[in-house]
Amino acid sequence: MMAQYRCIKEQHPGTLLFYRMGDFYEMFFDDAIEAADALSIALTKRGKSHGDDIPMCGVPVHSADGYLQTLIRKGHRVAVCEQTEDAAEARKRGAKSVVAREVVRLVTPGTLTEDGLLDARTHNFLAAIVRRREQAAVAWTDISSGSLQSVQCSAAQLPHHLARIDAAEILLSEAAEDALKAQLGQLAVPITEVAARDFDSTDGERRLKALFGVRSLAAFGAFERTELGALCAIILYLERTQKGRLPTLQPPRRERPEAIMQIDAATRRNLELVRDFSGRRETSLLGTIDCTLTAAGGRMLERRISQPSTVPAEIAAHHDEVAYCLAANRLREQVRALLRKQPDIERPLSRLGLDRASPRDLGAIRTGLLLAQRICAVLRAGEASSVFTADLAAIESMAELATDLDRCLADEVPLTVRDGSLIRVGFDAQLDEARRSRDEQRSDIANLQRRYATLADITSLKIRHNNVLGYFVETPASHARSMMSDPLAEKFIHRQTMASAVRFTTLELTELESRIIGAGATVIEIENRHFESLRERVVARAADLLAAARALARLDVATALAETASLNAWRRPIIEEGVAFEIRGGRHPVVEGALRHAGGGDFIANDCHLSDASIRLVTGPNMSGKSTYLRQNALIAILAQAGSFVPADSARIGLVTQLFSRVGAADDLARGQSTFMVEMVETATILQQATPTALVILDEIGRGTATYDGLSIAWATLEHLHEINRCRSLFATHYHELTQLDERLERLTNATVAVSEWEGEVVFLHEVRDGCCDRSYGVQVARLAGMPESAVARAEQLLRQFESDSTPTFAALDDLPLFSAAASPPEDPLRDKLAGITPDDLTPRAALELIYELKRSLD
Ligand code: ATP
Repeated sequence: MMAQYRCIKEQHPGTLLFYRMGDFYEMFFDDAIEAADALSIALTKRGKSHGDDIPMCGVPVHSADGYLQTLIRKGHRVAVCEQTEDAAEARKRGAKSVVAREVVRLVTPGTLTEDGLLDARTHNFLAAIVRRREQAAVAWTDISSGSLQSVQCSAAQLPHHLARIDAAEILLSEAAEDALKAQLGQLAVPITEVAARDFDSTDGERRLKALFGVRSLAAFGAFERTELGALCAIILYLERTQKGRLPTLQPPRRERPEAIMQIDAATRRNLELVRDFSGRRETSLLGTIDCTLTAAGGRMLERRISQPSTVPAEIAAHHDEVAYCLAANRLREQVRALLRKQPDIERPLSRLGLDRASPRDLGAIRTGLLLAQRICAVLRAGEASSVFTADLAAIESMAELATDLDRCLADEVPLTVRDGSLIRVGFDAQLDEARRSRDEQRSDIANLQRRYATLADITSLKIRHNNVLGYFVETPASHARSMMSDPLAEKFIHRQTMASAVRFTTLELTELESRIIGAGATVIEIENRHFESLRERVVARAADLLAAARALARLDVATALAETASLNAWRRPIIEEGVAFEIRGGRHPVVEGALRHAGGGDFIANDCHLSDASIRLVTGPNMSGKSTYLRQNALIAILAQAGSFVPADSARIGLVTQLFSRVGAADDLARGQSTFMVEMVETATILQQATPTALVILDEIGRGTATYDGLSIAWATLEHLHEINRCRSLFATHYHELTQLDERLERLTNATVAVSEWEGEVVFLHEVRDGCCDRSYGVQVARLAGMPESAVARAEQLLRQFESDSTPTFAALDDLPLFSAAASPPEDPLRDKLAGITPDDLTPRAALELIYELKRSLD
């Protein structure tokens, strides 16, 4: 067996080998040491190799998914090796023959299909990258839902596409340039290097044609050679990991880079589109607005937010759908009630295609399609056919398959075919007959037990079953003697003596058992046949089924976005060609949601006018809401072009083709870049790439360096945006000096976030107005944050001094006493008096007197 193990292991380098032994997957040698550590399971030993113990560990087959998930998450790849014959077959070749085994699949992060290994509401993409000089291409697939796409772009755009695709695993040629390898190495994604010949475009074209049974790929799109190379690598990798089987894939779809809003990785992170800073979905933009009810709807909404469209007709069609669902309240409720019960169709279908499915997957497709027909009926009754024409047609074309499946499948579909209850009673007379005979023989066992109990005169005699002995007669040990003496001994053949019981068999029982096994096997054989033919029927319609599943996901997204719009009073935006940007009463969806949730008061809505390459320079105190304002306008543009309504009273937006945001600063020490370097790299990208249809959000540029360096950089950045990029921009800063630029840059206007001051404390109004603010109230905010009063007092003192001196120097501060002396808060008898009061101890009269006394002390 070890020889077989070593042979299989050698063929799968770089993977952990899950070697099937009975009900366990076992691992040996270094694999065992690595896996035991990664999974925190016991490391044991078995046998010896060259005199040393062989390390071993194992996981039960029935709970293998959880262990696989942990290993994949920790960056391992696993080869799953199954027994391909049973022990009896192996014995035919000789008593010492080893059961044949074969690796049936390689489990890698980008090729998962099991629900237990996947997040239901997130895509799991496998991507392949090609870069040839200035050209690049990416192909990507989610085999769990059958999508296959590609895009060609410039080498400079490659990182943006990778950021939006957000693959779980990336394939790269071994021969790729070191610079590309280094660049990809910075992404937190496993990279798998494959042979350079896997990226052969001619081979790719040939394989795609064969896979989709077409003579030309023209109908799918005009693929570039680089794209065909990347697609080829994907297909070869799938064949290799799925051991020759290919999942049910949709024909490749070619994306036009210009049809998608370009959003780079830094902007995505800053705006927390689908994940927040700590990687959670719930508090991201997506998590806040996601009212979808199906997993496929959740995945589709995630895609829409990750890659907003720049095609006006497509965006308008989505807005029409949402508008329809928003107006039709009752219908929306009915559709959503049905969607709530809707199982996933795409992932079960992919498992059926890979022959890795359980009857439950067929059941899910049946239930899903039947429910989908009811959803269509509701929508047709509501005269929604003009809005959802293609979607309704796609779903309705599956009606026949749905009823056929329902005619065959039992209402409750079992987990495995071995259970023998997959097919509906009454569907197949031969099957019903086999079941009847199996059940009759089972009741014969009960009769036989009664007969034997009378014959032996032992009321506690039982006929039982286990996997080792099969059926046997069992009596308590106290009856052993009578059972083993004449006349009973003639009939009952002794099998086993236990501490408290004795077990026997009889000729009758053995015969009955073989009849039961035969009938059971017939049932399973017939059911297996039905399962296989249903599986083939479903897989033959895979393309139509995937289209229906996508149509359902679209209905889910449209009704969900209408629900979000209705719950939050969102409005339909106007998207048009040109460079308008007119938002009235805009709100930040996540901050507004959080305020509402925490009972923290109302969100203050604000307008934003940025049409015609305007730059809005926003100054305002710390904590007043500048960042919130900047981000909310970016999010409104994203939501609008993702096909959603928006958190504003009205919005008119000229198509935003690129969105750049530089908000806050974070050290990227892992990549060896300082805070300031990260900030400058990101700003440089924006200034180099932003075109007139871009929207640029810059928050506190230049803060990570000395004051005058920072001010100069911020100044130059503004001039560059105004003169060269000429794009719509929002720029928040604490460099109040920049507000003078409105006299020199004609399209720059100043805005400020209003605050008022009350008794020395700053009150945030969160209202964005025209004009500039004169100060940042940083010291007041420090007090609010709980900085020691002595430090705050010292800061106030220093600030006064700095403000009175245009070029402050230490010499100018000579007159100020040092911290310890100056910083103790000024004496304040009123404060002392108040601190000494215990209100609960005061009578009403004493309280009144105290008020008079306090009032007098002011005079
Ligand atoms: P800093 O200059 O210190 O970075 P900022 O001016 O960018 O601060 P934000 O971080 O945008 O301020 O906002 C601070 C807090 O104010 C937010 O977390 C939010 O709770 C609240 N806030 C911001 N804008 C609004 C608004 N329009 N309505 C209500 N609350 C708001």
